[in-house]
Amino acid sequence: MKKISKLQVLRFVIQIGFLFFLPSLFTLTFGELKQLYSMIASGNFNFTAALPQLLEAIVVIPATILLGRFFCGWICAFGTFNDIIYLLSNRLFKTKFIVKEKVDSVLKYLKYVVLLFIIFLAWIKGISLDSYSPWNAFAQSTEFTETIFLYPVGFGILALIVVGTIFIERFFCRYLCPLGAIFSITSKLRLLRINKNREKCGKCRICTNNCSMGIKLYEVDVVNSGECINCMKCISSCPRSNTELKIVGKKVNPAFVSGAIILSFIAIYSLSTILVAKSNVALSTDTNLSKTENSISENNNSTSSTEGKKYKDGTYEGTGRGYRPNLKVSVTIKNDKITDVQILSNNETPRYTTIPFDTIPKEIIDSQSTDVDTISGATRTSNGIMEAVEDALSQAKTGGSGESSATKESGNQSTDESNNSGRYDGKEIYPGEEYNKNNAPNDNFGDNLSPRFDGNRRQRHR
Ligand code: SF4
Ligand code: SF4
Repeated sequence: MKKISKLQVLRFVIQIGFLFFLPSLFTLTFGELKQLYSMIASGNFNFTAALPQLLEAIVVIPATILLGRFFCGWICAFGTFNDIIYLLSNRLFKTKFIVKEKVDSVLKYLKYVVLLFIIFLAWIKGISLDSYSPWNAFAQSTEFTETIFLYPVGFGILALIVVGTIFIERFFCRYLCPLGAIFSITSKLRLLRINKNREKCGKCRICTNNCSMGIKLYEVDVVNSGECINCMKCISSCPRSNTELKIVGKKVNPAFVSGAIILSFIAIYSLSTILVAKSNVALSTDTNLSKTENSISENNNSTSSTEGKKYKDGTYEGTGRGYRPNLKVSVTIKNDKITDVQILSNNETPRYTTIPFDTIPKEIIDSQSTDVDTISGATRTSNGIMEAVEDALSQAKTGGSGESSATKESGNQSTDESNNSGRYDGKEIYPGEEYNKNNAPNDNFGDNLSPRFDGNRRQRHR
């Protein structure tokens, strides 16, 4: 049986870690590039203000420019998904399907076509490609039976990708990935490169045969191709140890350098996430007053009076639809203020609830408003909480506008979702987006599922 190198074991362990803990970095990064494009195109780009919305791209893109595509080889969950399928198919078929080099080099241009197509349709024309996105489908695959109808085309394309990956290693990365197309260009000037002295080579071509991306290694001494994903399989497989990793021409230990790069990535990413989360909460508190005026007063069409109380003291329950129906909250009102918001029960996916359940209630209390930022990647859950709070608030109104709903105070609950008064009525359509039948704002191709603050919401409502 073929011996697996320690370097490849290390890579696989890291890949699996990212697959479980940060599964949607690739969609976040791509979505943020779209955001960056929109900001620049609209002449609205301010680095400091944009930073929280561009966190992943700001960490991933410079790292790729400097060090190459470690993101693809070690971090990206969709790349790992490709690797796992190929590994299983290899074990099953015990043979390697070879794509002719000429065909392979032509097909590799396809990803640039995909990128241009997305830029034109989704970024320039604002046409939603949500249900066509295999990334969105992949990200929802743990909820397959629930989401198959939301992303029918996406799941269809995903199935085709799986078939392709059974036969060709990194099928999606090689031929279709729009982010891979960007990385392929941006990694050209990297400092870190694979070197291979052809004079010392035999005729085996083992490195070429093992290259994840089908790079013709037998033709080069230094891998300058933007296709290289730093998987290090050429280094692990060379029987003469003739393939080396070099930084600015100096040989380095691939396991040590790769481990250090991944650890630095995790540290920088975690730190930035914490800083961004803190700055968002601070921003939310700062804007408390204006939000109260802008939002709650807007919501209460029938009780627009600023004299007297809007709400009756007490604890009210409300129901909203998040990713799934029946997200229930309790809202406590004291002296016309929201003093507490508790999540009572829900049917959401646990993995995506931690941050929104922790953050959205606090933001609502801080801002005394339901118009708070959604958590990126948990948009539906965030909106579900806001909708449920609005439902509860409609029952707390002193003007009686909540009377038509199944209003019950303290310990009871409303089950009539159609009576959610307030700003979010499940039919809101953001500019450039089409209405999604399940009350969920659309996640365009490149949107995400990893919970994080989403500055988009505030901006979209300005
Ligand atoms: S090419 Fe795309 S899908 Fe493949 S690893 Fe890179 S970002 Fe992920
Ligand atoms: S050249 Fe080496 S490191 Fe780059 S993709 Fe091919 S096998 Fe991986």
